[in-house]
Amino acid sequence: MKASQLILGTQRENPSDAEIVSHKLMIRAGLIRQVSSGIYNWLPTGKKVLQKVENIIREEMNFAGAQEILMPMVQPATLWEDSGRIDQYGQELLVFLDRHENKFCLGPTHEEIITDLCKNLLTSYKQLPVTLYQIQTKFRDEIRPRFGVMRSREFIMKDAYSFDLDKESLGNSYLIMKEAYTKIFNKIGLDYRVVKADSGAIGGSESEEFHVLAESGEDLLAFSDKSEYAINAELLTELQEGQDPFSLEGKPSPDGNGILKLKRGIEVGHIFKLGKKYSEVLNLRIPGEDHDIYPEMGCYGIGASRIVAAAIEQNHDEKGIVWPSALAPYQVALVEVNTKDKKEIKDKCLEIYQLFKENDIEVLWDDRDKRPGVKFSDMEVIGIPATVIIGERTLETGEIEFKKRQDEKPELVSHQDLISLIKT
Ligand code: ATP
Ligand code: MG
Repeated sequence: MKASQLILGTQRENPSDAEIVSHKLMIRAGLIRQVSSGIYNWLPTGKKVLQKVENIIREEMNFAGAQEILMPMVQPATLWEDSGRIDQYGQELLVFLDRHENKFCLGPTHEEIITDLCKNLLTSYKQLPVTLYQIQTKFRDEIRPRFGVMRSREFIMKDAYSFDLDKESLGNSYLIMKEAYTKIFNKIGLDYRVVKADSGAIGGSESEEFHVLAESGEDLLAFSDKSEYAINAELLTELQEGQDPFSLEGKPSPDGNGILKLKRGIEVGHIFKLGKKYSEVLNLRIPGEDHDIYPEMGCYGIGASRIVAAAIEQNHDEKGIVWPSALAPYQVALVEVNTKDKKEIKDKCLEIYQLFKENDIEVLWDDRDKRPGVKFSDMEVIGIPATVIIGERTLETGEIEFKKRQDEKPELVSHQDLISLIKT
């Protein structure tokens, strides 16, 4: 891609309402623009990153045997009345009337729709176990949208739903999803932890959350310093009948191993064993071997758009974003320093640009008629992992300046070394 043709949308100033670094940098790097409170446009660079997150999720969901579908965002409110959640979910559920005065809502999650879908779709127990998923826009009328896309009203979620014959089989489907999540967060390259969690408004018996560790995280997590014990402090408080979680630091771990340490986390994924809650209440019965069964369900969410913000919270410096390579919108920035507008410099850039493309390296060629300082700071705030600089020096000596995002100074390399340097 040539920067002269790209709608970059970078800006120098921090947005006045931004409290945390990822929100500031997502606006400054031209990833998102606000439309209204908690509602955002994704610009070309942001959409590219979001798509990388989605593709990693999709790849691992497919590998785990889950099948992709797409359910509607608009849902009949009657289904929520049937499940009994219309009141329980509260004001986060945005309800409205169509022209015939039928009540609808914008989907904050899809347990009702999927259960209803499976009523006609699953006709024999032999079709179980099965897991279906989608990657789609959700709407929750959050009381306090903040931190950009971290807690927005409209956001992108991957939600998967499993259907099993019995509890044992549900245990297996749950583990398969847990393993897929582990692979997803490893591939994305984030420092994360899995903790026991509260099932909240979704319901069910058991659940775990995946948290990206960050000071700005809204959740407090408690870890044993000796064992694998890890829990969301919200749940620990409930278990310990209302004790202030900050008093849970330094206390013995409830599993009897070690003492508890507290850390902050950003919830990026949540997996639940739902049991028969939705299949029973919405009457999803499947013909079994000798009688109908209500399947055991599980549900599994990942906040795809929140992951983009969480990755920035963990990976930035004073100049901007420092993408983990799996999420970088481009692998290399080719910066043309061509103050005298020399054809030879343009030609050299074109040659290297084509070399990158032939080697399947995503390259952003900054061919804009701007001062070098402006180009460098744009590439740095966007967080492109490597920069190649082509200017007078390249014509004189053949040497190319090469710099990794966090290097202080560029090194001089030859044309032949470029590809291997970028791929390592
Ligand atoms: P939270 O406690 O942060 O409100 P939740 O428990 O309501 O999250 P789930 O219903 O489990 O979240 O949704 C699955 C995932 O969707 C979450 O793990 C999170 O990554 C993402 N998510 C939830 N609410 C939002 C939001 N308002 N903005 C962006 N992502 C969200
Ligand atoms: Mg919530």
